[in-house]
Amino acid sequence: MIRFPAREIYVGNKPLGGRNPIRLQSMTNTDTRDVEATVAQTIRIFEAGADYVRISVPNSESASVLPSIRKKVSNARFDYPLIADIHFKPELALIAARYFEAVRINPGNYTGMPSKNQIEWSESQYQSELDEMRNNLKPLLKTCKEYGRAIRIGTNFGSLSKRVISRLGNTPEAMVVSTLEFLQAFESLGFTDTAISLKASNPIITIKAYLLMVERMQQMGMAYPLHVGVTEAGEGEDGRIKSALGISTLLQMGIGDTIRVSLSEAPEEEIPVARKIAEPFQNLFTNTPREGEVYRIPIINFNPPNPPPIPYNLKAVVLSDQEDASCDFVLLKNTKEFGNAEKDENCFTQAKHKATGEIFPVFSVQALSNPSTIFDAQWNFLWIDFDNDLPKLETLKNVPGLILIFETKCNNLTNAIEQLREHLFRLELNPVLVVYQRLIHRSEEDVLLTAVEKTSLLLLQRKIHGLIFRAPVIATPSLAGKMVFGLLQATGIRITRNEYISCPTCSRTSFDLVAISKKVKEITQHISGLKIAVMGCVVNGPGEMADADFGILGAGPGKVHLYKGLTPIKRNLTELQALDALAKLIESQESAHIPKNE
Ligand code: SF4
Repeated sequence: MIRFPAREIYVGNKPLGGRNPIRLQSMTNTDTRDVEATVAQTIRIFEAGADYVRISVPNSESASVLPSIRKKVSNARFDYPLIADIHFKPELALIAARYFEAVRINPGNYTGMPSKNQIEWSESQYQSELDEMRNNLKPLLKTCKEYGRAIRIGTNFGSLSKRVISRLGNTPEAMVVSTLEFLQAFESLGFTDTAISLKASNPIITIKAYLLMVERMQQMGMAYPLHVGVTEAGEGEDGRIKSALGISTLLQMGIGDTIRVSLSEAPEEEIPVARKIAEPFQNLFTNTPREGEVYRIPIINFNPPNPPPIPYNLKAVVLSDQEDASCDFVLLKNTKEFGNAEKDENCFTQAKHKATGEIFPVFSVQALSNPSTIFDAQWNFLWIDFDNDLPKLETLKNVPGLILIFETKCNNLTNAIEQLREHLFRLELNPVLVVYQRLIHRSEEDVLLTAVEKTSLLLLQRKIHGLIFRAPVIATPSLAGKMVFGLLQATGIRITRNEYISCPTCSRTSFDLVAISKKVKEITQHISGLKIAVMGCVVNGPGEMADADFGILGAGPGKVHLYKGLTPIKRNLTELQALDALAKLIESQESAHIPKNE
């Protein structure tokens, strides 16, 4: 893997792109006007190991305290870059650029608001909006040049301009075009100290947008550094899975110069997670590529043809060797047949389908050459050790319903899988591939992040069709299965629970978003298959909530609106009223009761 050769730009004293390390960043969620609280939180984020801290500037009072924040953070010996986050009020970016090292702007905000009913743009209307945007950018670019500041064009799936949506819909392509329109305006005005981001709360949309962006940049001879993240990832295990899925997958393809893990938790808690995600790539990213090595955008097929049939028409299969685990099949040992069953941890003989109790055989490769072996007419599990068993797979040709449980000591799982798939292709075999992962780590979070890093790209391309984890640090068997189901859910391969989207909060959040998100999870635990959003404000809220079944959106101090789909159905509720109304609404929607685990 080679890193996308982004140009180096200066963000204060921590340059970005080039061969610089992957920079880590987070964002404050204090009220920016509260200087003491904002400075204290900024320092905590830097102490946790961040390279950059972003601070939102929603109004002129916030803009007026930026010099004081900069001074106090520097006086505390954190002379590191601060980035101002600007939405809706481009004039505030002009103030911020004088005091902070970089400014993040949203391409959705640099033209006048179209009339509510405008849904089409003629060629000349479209062009005149681009001209207006270019004109509106001039003062900011001039100030940034004067003060030596960088700008991030922060495109969000949830807040694309109506102009772009009118032509391309809410799509990764629209995100790319929106970003390119800005980059071209910047270049035409002689400004190139630019980083870009294209975030969505859906990791797959995020990955597709970045891949397309890099492809377009290469075609156009551009190489701007990329800020990578999945926005509104939520909290806890789900938030980590979504973030790791989006970020790790892109890093595996050499994409990502700075990363932010957006969790609905204390911002300083994002940094250790970001560090763990970036760590496996830092050496490779900072080393100079070997002579002649050229970056090529990987070709990713998210929908490959001819997937193998999977038992019970599942989209992917989850195995476990623990009876009480959350899984589809439990692997069982027959201690009579294997006297050393307890010693040999992989000598399983049967796989029990948990839902039906049906039993299928599990073979070792040795059994293949035994003429007395009787295969099941439907499904046959076969445990293979990649490092020893590959040459013996010839004999698999006549085995019906093959499910290969694949284990390797090889560090590069992707390479091993590619070799195995090539071998199987030559043998004209198309079995279900289940990866067995032995994860020896110190914490559950480490297990989770490593599992996502090792398997995400393989799962997304359907090169593997199932997982089994063994991680001694995970004390409860159900948790390992829960992690696998969470990963399959985040990849969109298999939906078994609700999807929760919540923004990471910032100074614009005017209600207790973290508490209400937790409560929403609690009151919806008994059902699955719903998408529920809890968003702090209108910046990304309505856009990211667009395909949610229900949403709660901040509407002023202590007040929220409740949405069903795209429609606000109750306005200005207190948090308790909103939870109550949401519970009643869900109860009244019988279609919401989708059975779990399918
Ligand atoms: S959606 Fe959340 S994080 Fe984004 S600007 Fe609004 S309150 Fe801040």
